[in-house]
Amino acid sequence: MLSYLRPDLLTLAAYTPHPAGAVDKGTVLDHLDTNESPYSLPKPLRLKLADTYENHLETNRYPDGGHLALKEAIAEYVNGSCGPISNGTSPKITPQQISVGNGSDELIRSLLIATCLGTGSSVLTAAPTFSMYGILAKTLGIPVVTIGRNTDKNFEIDLDAGRQAIANPNGTPVRVVWMVHPNSPTANALTPTELSWLRGIPSNVLVVIDEAYFEFSQQTVAGELAARPNWVILRTFSKAFRLAAHRMGYAVGHPDLIQTLEKVRLPYNLPSFSQAAALTALAHRNELLTMIPKMVSDRDRLTRNLRSLGTFQVWNSAANFIYLRLRPDFAGDNPEPKLGEITAAMKEKGTLIRHTGGGLRITVGTPEENDRTLSRLKAVLGN
Ligand SMILES: *Cc1c(COP(=O)(O)O)cnc(C)c1O
Repeated sequence: MLSYLRPDLLTLAAYTPHPAGAVDKGTVLDHLDTNESPYSLPKPLRLKLADTYENHLETNRYPDGGHLALKEAIAEYVNGSCGPISNGTSPKITPQQISVGNGSDELIRSLLIATCLGTGSSVLTAAPTFSMYGILAKTLGIPVVTIGRNTDKNFEIDLDAGRQAIANPNGTPVRVVWMVHPNSPTANALTPTELSWLRGIPSNVLVVIDEAYFEFSQQTVAGELAARPNWVILRTFSKAFRLAAHRMGYAVGHPDLIQTLEKVRLPYNLPSFSQAAALTALAHRNELLTMIPKMVSDRDRLTRNLRSLGTFQVWNSAANFIYLRLRPDFAGDNPEPKLGEITAAMKEKGTLIRHTGGGLRITVGTPEENDRTLSRLKAVLGN
């Protein structure tokens, strides 16, 4: 082993987006393992972007490193899409409260650098949840404290364990709490009880609320930001806005926190073409987001159909994916091998799904993809 490498990185498991070789296998593949939108940008918008590239984008120039136009457009979108702010009961979000990242993944890393790096403090996550919080913390040598969830009910976090972790005077102090609203992979939004616990967290701990699936859940804490300088929201263009290829995410929070995120990021973190794509998507958001109610009803239909298989416990989803676990009579003592077999057999048939957190996470696709998900699962379970 190369002796100049950090030993703790040798054992770190990297994020694996797709199973190796799956994408270029040549069979029809339904990519239902990464929660992207099944729909690309509509053709007229892609042509518009092609024109931008052809006539306006100077490839020899560095991108706009200040992102001001983007921040203004994002602020307008955030203000227009969360009740309490838009009817004037709380101050409007300003561009100074927004930082834009190369995907929210970059912002997760910037937040870790801005809070924990080199301080000996740790971050808190509630498993199962989005794996990047833990992975990125570990790449920076930041310890991760993990608490559990109420897995036999609604995946509410173990609040007693949370209180203990925050209060813990002997362990490494927790400086950041990571929450997803709604959570991935379990698809549940934060409950009133969880939200009131988060409101009581001391102001020297940063609370990150990742609203990657906001457009599907229509639930946001944006209206509370003005009252809570230790809260920050993450959002992304990778899901409802159909721009996963362009890597665009944003953080909304206290201007001082945002200024620090701006200091620690790379100066040209957003390629010009990605900025153009996000601006175009925001300008045409009404058209892009009209698909959401249809996707929500497709999701609910798929949920009912998955339930009717009888093999799985299927939770209600507030996002664009569905979480299921084997029912006890099918799971046996250890459900993992069976879940692994189902995932592999689905891949063999051309549908990628994700085996994670003791269950399966299936992205809602087009109606045709959803029909294939169901018929392939039936075939796999019948074997
Ligand atoms: C998909 C997802 C994101 C988006 O990450 P990007 O880097 O913006 O693509 C962020 N958080 C969660 C919980 C997600 O599921």
